[in-house]
Amino acid sequence: MTAAATTSVNWNIHRSIKSMMRASSLVVGGMLSVALTSGKSFGQFPQQQPQRVTGPWSDSTLGPDRRAELLLAQMTLDEKIALVHGSGMRSGGGSNGGAGYVPGIPRLGIPALQMADAVVGVTRGAQMGRYSTAFPSQVALSSGWDVRGACEVGATIGEELFDQGYTMSLGGGVNITREPRNGRNFEYKGEDPVLAGKLVASEMRCLEARGILGDIKHFAANDQETGRTIGNTVLDERTLRETDLLPFEIALREADISGVMCSYNKVNGDWACENSYLMNEFLKKAIGFKGFVLSDWGATHSTTKAALAGLDMEEPGGGYFGDSLKAAIQRGDVPMARLDDMVKRILRSQFAVGQFDAQRPRKVPDPVHGLEVAQRMAERGSVLLKNANRQLPLSASQVKSIAVIGSHADVGVLSGGGSSQVDPPGGNAVPPPAGNAGRGGGGFGRVPVWDPSSPLKAIRAKAPRATVTFDAGTDPTAAAAAARRAEVAIVFVNQHASEGRDLPSLALPDNQDALVSAVAAANPRTIVVLETGGAVTMPWIDRVSAVLAAWYPGIRGGEAIANLLFGDVNPSGKLVLSFPKSESDLPHAQVFGPVGNELATGSGLAATQAGAAGGRGGRGSVPPFDMPYTEGLKVGYKWYDAEGKTPLFPFGHGLSYTTYAYSAVHVDGASSPLAPLTVSFTVKNTGSRAGREIAQVYASLPASAGEPPKRLVGWDVVELKAGESKTVSVPVDRLLLSVFDANTHAWRLPTGPYTIRVGGSSAVLPLTTTVGLQQ
Ligand code: BGC
Repeated sequence: MTAAATTSVNWNIHRSIKSMMRASSLVVGGMLSVALTSGKSFGQFPQQQPQRVTGPWSDSTLGPDRRAELLLAQMTLDEKIALVHGSGMRSGGGSNGGAGYVPGIPRLGIPALQMADAVVGVTRGAQMGRYSTAFPSQVALSSGWDVRGACEVGATIGEELFDQGYTMSLGGGVNITREPRNGRNFEYKGEDPVLAGKLVASEMRCLEARGILGDIKHFAANDQETGRTIGNTVLDERTLRETDLLPFEIALREADISGVMCSYNKVNGDWACENSYLMNEFLKKAIGFKGFVLSDWGATHSTTKAALAGLDMEEPGGGYFGDSLKAAIQRGDVPMARLDDMVKRILRSQFAVGQFDAQRPRKVPDPVHGLEVAQRMAERGSVLLKNANRQLPLSASQVKSIAVIGSHADVGVLSGGGSSQVDPPGGNAVPPPAGNAGRGGGGFGRVPVWDPSSPLKAIRAKAPRATVTFDAGTDPTAAAAAARRAEVAIVFVNQHASEGRDLPSLALPDNQDALVSAVAAANPRTIVVLETGGAVTMPWIDRVSAVLAAWYPGIRGGEAIANLLFGDVNPSGKLVLSFPKSESDLPHAQVFGPVGNELATGSGLAATQAGAAGGRGGRGSVPPFDMPYTEGLKVGYKWYDAEGKTPLFPFGHGLSYTTYAYSAVHVDGASSPLAPLTVSFTVKNTGSRAGREIAQVYASLPASAGEPPKRLVGWDVVELKAGESKTVSVPVDRLLLSVFDANTHAWRLPTGPYTIRVGGSSAVLPLTTTVGLQQ
């Protein structure tokens, strides 16, 4: 970037912060002015770093495991017990106000664990009088397939956590999108385990490099919200290892992540947080996880069983791992060695990220950097799904009139709800009705929060000579009239999703399908912008010119959308989840559990949350139920491939304003049993603008393996100028070409021919080659 360009970007960001400050509430405006004018730390944090106490463990040339052992040897039983459970949510005393707090032990200089939810940014920022960047949803971030971008986001969130006085992130959502109606899909990274695992590894590695403990969640097979504290996921070992557990395995093999959060549900009959197969056998034995398992909030159900099954920390309180664990140790029900192991895992994680060593001083969070990263990620993760007759990009100099319609596009962009909700600077751009004041009001995550980043303003700024009108979209007839008067209609539609409940269906709510249909009937140049947590159905798809999936695009979403619509940024995101043509194409007609009447009466939410508060696991008024994963290995695109169903938009799909050609595929390393495979090929930009192509590599395993038709095994993001070609090489780890053998409980490479397929979408793979792998 040239110096002039840098200056102009900085200037724009400063202007936008100023406008945010004008729009801000007193608290947040005040906070931002501190951010811009003061180089000093806030004074309001509890003392995070205790007095340094030195001992043999202080020798930083020793590894984290050894240092943890040396420190553990100094601890009393009570001190050990104090470290393996939380002390309440946002509790007073030394808590930093986050979702979890484990007090430190000053006698030994052990720092407190100050935990904040941080899937898409640091939560409760404004509520605590602090600044946090509201990033795009995880599904948006992942749609950039950008391992380096995931690192930047992780590092930025890590930095903001650190500067706010936190020491641990409750981020790293990595459940696969098995159930497209799952209300938390926006917190996750799509339906492919390899893509999700590699992205979260990069994000957590870079977050931990900022001195913060990372965490990945929700472990495991917690793929829907309905009845999350009473449902029992039923699936065989091979399916478990190849689907729901695989992102955890990949992430933990690639990065030394501190925490894994076990989930609310049962898996094959045992609560996830007292499931010995999941924690002892898989995490600790099979893949050698060195960090600690902490329970989701209220997901602990026992003392001895949970401790022996491998749970290392109860959150948010100590109902089972406080006095009760102490008594179990004294009785000999839980061996001291097990408690020592729990404590060592926690301490070694703190040592590994440097929390015992001299740390950099905290500073005021840097909003300018956060906004820049958030916008770039929104631009990279938005997916251009349809662009008939090259309706996009819009020409800023030629377009005369634009009707912007719907979805509060005059003031903001939608975000996802629940524990990951980041407070937008300036507050909710669409204030809820009085008496329904946000997070608490109207139920957990019920009130949609709109980040104050106006697409309308950003569009007006792009085309200052055009007449740009806004219609709220609440009356399709009025919206159609507005569309008819304009050269181009841009309809914004949304679907709010939140932790605590699933989507009643994949249809757009609030009559928005009728809105799009009415606008499309009135104006042949209708462009739809989706703000959703995942897939939606589009009965109007043949009648609109273009569709851009912007997901929940975060605090600079409006600017990102305008840049994409006008071609200042060439779209490059690709879908990390399939969009079905109809819900009848999904493996299950509805989410598991007593959906219909539960959701309709609102008691579905109660069932979903039941037990979370009391920590007893959700019996409530709804009987427990099984969730049999009858589709097995066929998750997402693997389902559509295997069942011969054509989705509306396939996994890996995403258009650009340029075009690419693929050629010359070549595979190396097949004959050496220890080497990873390397798949090389050439990608050429055959259009007239620069672009970033996400080149994807899939493998079809030998037929004897009994696998779905193909799986993603690698990809590369290739930046190409107009006319430019590059040869890229994608390494493919043999694990990704293996199947899990439930007889030997180990991965094995099936024998026979593997077909390697390369292209720009799971449905368009022009290059294929066949290799046999040396065992
Ligand atoms: C969520 C977790 C979250 C925890 C603490 C639970 O309801 O499932 O993702 O980290 O609350 O807020």
